[in-house]
Amino acid sequence: MSYQYDLIAIGGGSGGVAAARRAAKHGAKCAVVEFDRLGGTCVNRGCVPKKVMWNAAHIAHTIGDVAGYGFDVEQKSFDWTRLVTDREKYIARLNGIYEANLAKENVEHLQGFGSLVDAHTVKVGDKSYTAERILLAPGGTPTVPEIPGAELGITSDGFFELTEMPKKVAVVGAGYIAVELAGMLHSLGAEVSLIIRREHFLREFDDLLSSTLTETMHAEGLKIINNTELAELKSSGSEINATTKDGRDLGHFDQVIWAIGRRPLSAELNPQNAGIEVNSNGYIPTDKWQATNVENIFAIGDVTGREQLTPVAIAAGRRLAERLYAGKTDRHLNYDNIASVVFSHPPIGAVGLTEAKAREKFGDDVKCYQAKFTPMYHAFTAHPQKTAMKLVVTGADEKIVGIHMIGAGVDEMLQGFAVAVKMGATKKDFDDTVAIHPTSSEELVTLV
Ligand code: NDP
Repeated sequence: MSYQYDLIAIGGGSGGVAAARRAAKHGAKCAVVEFDRLGGTCVNRGCVPKKVMWNAAHIAHTIGDVAGYGFDVEQKSFDWTRLVTDREKYIARLNGIYEANLAKENVEHLQGFGSLVDAHTVKVGDKSYTAERILLAPGGTPTVPEIPGAELGITSDGFFELTEMPKKVAVVGAGYIAVELAGMLHSLGAEVSLIIRREHFLREFDDLLSSTLTETMHAEGLKIINNTELAELKSSGSEINATTKDGRDLGHFDQVIWAIGRRPLSAELNPQNAGIEVNSNGYIPTDKWQATNVENIFAIGDVTGREQLTPVAIAAGRRLAERLYAGKTDRHLNYDNIASVVFSHPPIGAVGLTEAKAREKFGDDVKCYQAKFTPMYHAFTAHPQKTAMKLVVTGADEKIVGIHMIGAGVDEMLQGFAVAVKMGATKKDFDDTVAIHPTSSEELVTLV
């Protein structure tokens, strides 16, 4: 049987593009199907525009800090519209680079919505294309709760479409996106309420991080409304009124942002046409080879329900392509010890097991070393933010199984320490590493 392509990737985001390019580099005839701009969530309405806004928020913080260092600087205004215009131009450039990179590797870009006709056929618009193998990398989309008036709110997609800065915002949710958007908006001058349905946010992270960030948010005047869920949104002139399930009226907001999670875009692929198994949450289960239950169909990225991070999708896609087309028969992604950063203010970085998860796994054979301090930079600022760090170790050799940090610079600090964890470093290896002084990172190698 001959096919038009060796590999068709459905989804032109980080994962699909990386896999198709790597496969093509090793001689496969590939196509990527994408209905939207190339680059997926990360480039168009995720990591990239988020980091631009986070940088702006970081600068706003810095302006607030400089008086302590002897500068007389006043923030006269902040031009959200101009920043967003320039940000979108930057993203358009990245879209162009994605297109050029596909062309460079002779990967065809099939513009349109891709879905499965059968295990070897993909429909794009009114055309069909056949492939020996198919890679499903459609990503995900934000979810919105089923409550009256939910449509009055926006999601992170809508946040990135805002051309004017909202003045009073409710951010609903307790994960990465809620914490990041709430922090950015607050730092840029909006009045923000973060509405969480339980006691704490970022419950998947080590308690030290969520409690330290909560203290910082309280100190900086970001309002956290916990243990409550919204019951209804009502339009009131140009504003939105929010009420809770426990009968409270939270008042009026110019924007309500839903950040309560994302769902995989699996149903849209018509997976049943190829016999693809989908679990009850809509994720497509894969084994360690990224293989689905159908022999020639693979899946990577957010649709698999594993770590929903851009570099994870890229790494899984490239390894899959090398296994299938470069003869590297054992190449696959090991999902253990994947580091991640939450771009809060200050940022959070974590790799490995939280203290709670380590205790679940290793019982009493767990020890933690931790420190909480004011970094030297903040000895001179009016609004000092604390830094906190924790090492989770296990066994007689005190193998490091988790590193958890919050504070200025930890976003850049974590990558190198993640290499050490991946290599199986022990507390003694850290102790034997001479500190770099004066930095915050030196604390991690001097913990007692
Ligand atoms: P998450 O799944 O991380 O968090 C959403 C949280 O919102 C839930 O865990 C839940 O927390 C809470 N929630 C769920 N339903 C409701 C509800 N009805 N009302 C109120 N709260 C609710 O989703 P995100 O959308 O924040 O992010 C999706 C994924 O994107 C992340 O898991 C991450 O992998 C990725 N991402 C990564 C970033 C990075 O690397 N910096 C940045 C942004 C996203 P609880 O149960 O505690 O209430």
